[in-house]
Amino acid sequence: MLTAQQIYNRLLDSYGPVQWWPGDEYAIMITAILVQNTSWNNVEKTVAELGERLSPKFMDSLSEEDLQPLIRSCGFYKAKSRYVKKLTAWFKGYDFEVVEVSQKPMLEVRDELLALPGIGAETADAILTYAFRMPSFVLDAYTRRFMARLGYDFKTDEERRAFLTDGIERSANMYGWYHWLILDHCKTRCGKRIKCEGCVFGDVCRKIDR
Ligand code: SF4
Repeated sequence: MLTAQQIYNRLLDSYGPVQWWPGDEYAIMITAILVQNTSWNNVEKTVAELGERLSPKFMDSLSEEDLQPLIRSCGFYKAKSRYVKKLTAWFKGYDFEVVEVSQKPMLEVRDELLALPGIGAETADAILTYAFRMPSFVLDAYTRRFMARLGYDFKTDEERRAFLTDGIERSANMYGWYHWLILDHCKTRCGKRIKCEGCVFGDVCRKIDR
């Protein structure tokens, strides 16, 4: 079985150079919510339509009802407008200053995010890693399926996280790059449909669908 570093190296060889979640810190926070249960294409369209209005001060000035039509393309717009407003209000508690959040212990910030509506572990970890540069490895459905297909029989996300962060540099950069490479791999060839021919994991993958 490959180590976490060996998996990373193969992903990097195939899908590098490394990439980062696009947008400034606030845009990353908001798009982490908007992308729930929709495609990234819809998020990109909404971000393009919002333009400079995708700022914490502008979003803070809107009512939920005003916000709804602006994010309609992302689906579930009523719920998402509430989540965006709650997340923005939370960020306002830090004067909309990324550095104010980043100075707090990561687990405290994580708990605060998880207490907000619409923010589960995956979204919280994405916001921590990509917006606030705190190393909290993102585990999502793509990653679970990819690991299972390779043959790793993990029962919990804690087990997956422990494996994927073992022996690799503990930094937001590394965790963010790694998650993005897994996304690239899963979207390219290891999603609901698999394209195994030519896959860089072909020699070790057990192709198990759990
Ligand atoms: S060999 Fe197939 S199932 Fe295994 S990681 Fe590659 S694409 Fe996925």
